[in-house]
Amino acid sequence: MRDLILPIALVTLCACTPKQAEQTTSTDATAGAAATAASASDHAFLPPINAADFAEHVRVLASDAFEGRGPGTAGEEKTVNYIKSQFARIGLQPGNGDSWFQNVPMVETTANESAVLQLKIGDTQQALKFGTDMVVGTRTGQTQVSVKDSPVVFIGYGVDAPERGWNDYAGLDVKGKTVVMLVNDPGFHANDPKLFDGKRMTYYGRWTYKFDEAARKGAKAALIIHDTPGASYGWDVVKNSWSGPQYDLPAADDPDPRLPIQGWISGEAAEALFKAAGQDLAKLRAAANKPGFKAVALNANASIDLSSTTVDKNSRNVIGLLPGSKTPQEAVAYMAHWDHLGKHEGETGDNIYNGAVDNATGVAGILELAEAFKNATPAPERSILFIAVTLEESGLLGSKYYVAHPVIPLDKTVAVINLDALSPIGKSETLTVVGKDSSQLEDLLMAAIKPQGRTMVDESNTAAGYYFRSDHFNFAKAGVPALYIGSGDDLVEGGKQAGEAAGQAYNAERYHKPGDQYDPATWNVDGIVQDLEAIESVGSTLANSGQWPNWYDGNPFKAARDTMMKKAAVK
Ligand SMILES: [Zn+2]
Repeated sequence: MRDLILPIALVTLCACTPKQAEQTTSTDATAGAAATAASASDHAFLPPINAADFAEHVRVLASDAFEGRGPGTAGEEKTVNYIKSQFARIGLQPGNGDSWFQNVPMVETTANESAVLQLKIGDTQQALKFGTDMVVGTRTGQTQVSVKDSPVVFIGYGVDAPERGWNDYAGLDVKGKTVVMLVNDPGFHANDPKLFDGKRMTYYGRWTYKFDEAARKGAKAALIIHDTPGASYGWDVVKNSWSGPQYDLPAADDPDPRLPIQGWISGEAAEALFKAAGQDLAKLRAAANKPGFKAVALNANASIDLSSTTVDKNSRNVIGLLPGSKTPQEAVAYMAHWDHLGKHEGETGDNIYNGAVDNATGVAGILELAEAFKNATPAPERSILFIAVTLEESGLLGSKYYVAHPVIPLDKTVAVINLDALSPIGKSETLTVVGKDSSQLEDLLMAAIKPQGRTMVDESNTAAGYYFRSDHFNFAKAGVPALYIGSGDDLVEGGKQAGEAAGQAYNAERYHKPGDQYDPATWNVDGIVQDLEAIESVGSTLANSGQWPNWYDGNPFKAARDTMMKKAAVK
């Protein structure tokens, strides 16, 4: 979840990457890490999904020894080898041919944070500092990027949505320019249910979409104005996420254009910019919320010299397979990202981002599901894949790579069920479906939770766009029916009030912070066990039938699936 889920405030996942702890490519270190990982737990695991086993996996994965599971670090070595050794202990087979690993080539780019964004506004100057006023980076892989006197244009939300008759770029040529835009989409800030999807964030509200669109339009630089409600997280999360090494798939592998400079500008710095340019940002925000908004050239030029270091590296997806007894060529997939923010050497005090909730819980979840399915009788007829992807915090890159290089063809992949940041706050009367009312998988889920006496609910903060912020989204975009569940927030003990309080506390104190740690004293994973049993039942129904669930009519991803399956039928 480039930005995770807790029912209430829901965790917000955002692209963050770990500081480089240490390079551990030597085989001894790898072998050492493998041995350490394999012996990381001498717990006696049992076949059925249970709280003690689940907690043990989280304890290990979120331990300081795993150093916040940063891609390309010693933490990666320990993590991928732990998952592999557990898959092997459970009795799965390597999922990528005869390997447990799928290499994901990546480029690690670290911006020099002494970079200053110079704004010439009329005859005044403003110098925006990294971390306080702005954060920037480059996805080009270039170690030196220079922008000189690039005209600054305010483009509202930076959305070009032909199917909604909305284009903030209409009649505008932004080639070589610096575009400044608002986060989220018009429906959110205008608080108008008829505009876009109202308070529910559309993909156009996501920063990833905004940068991709500005790149397609040929801009030189793009800056998003931060506001906490619109982003659904504070400036500290943006700063944490954009500081230190950033990871990306190599530009050469990516067909889409990339911006020389992209980043965020703080609300305060934006106010100062617009004021100095003789513009009223509040007024322009209001104008941007109206159909037919016209972009506004600010009487300003932007300049920046950004130097970065780049290192070509590899990270790994870890894939385990339970071959089907009857139709092994068809598969149901369970997925969870194993990576988190790593260890930030430059920070004092506790600088390990343990990522217990985000996402040791998800990885523990697929390990528990694997053990349950391996011991199921009869054995599932279709195959079941267990995919622990990397680089989620860096932009859903491990799952993006997997979807481009699936070990079982996507037209033979029945469905994917994604786990990202489950909440250890006890049993709930409800189960959250992120992006509810999307596919027939929810019909199976409903049938699975009925005997639990529970109901399905939508995520409580639809404005945060969680549907676009975790790995299932790459599968959905390709058409594969995807289910992304989160724990409910109407707690058996304490009701909604307790659930919401727990979520807000997590979001404020632990989300993407060193404080996201496993605490046996306060963690109650009974609700998570119930959630896992529910999705076990969904997977079991699919794995023991010839069903091909699809997206509901009107869902944006249905067309891709229908086309895919039509092609498969004539193969
Ligand atoms: Zn996550």
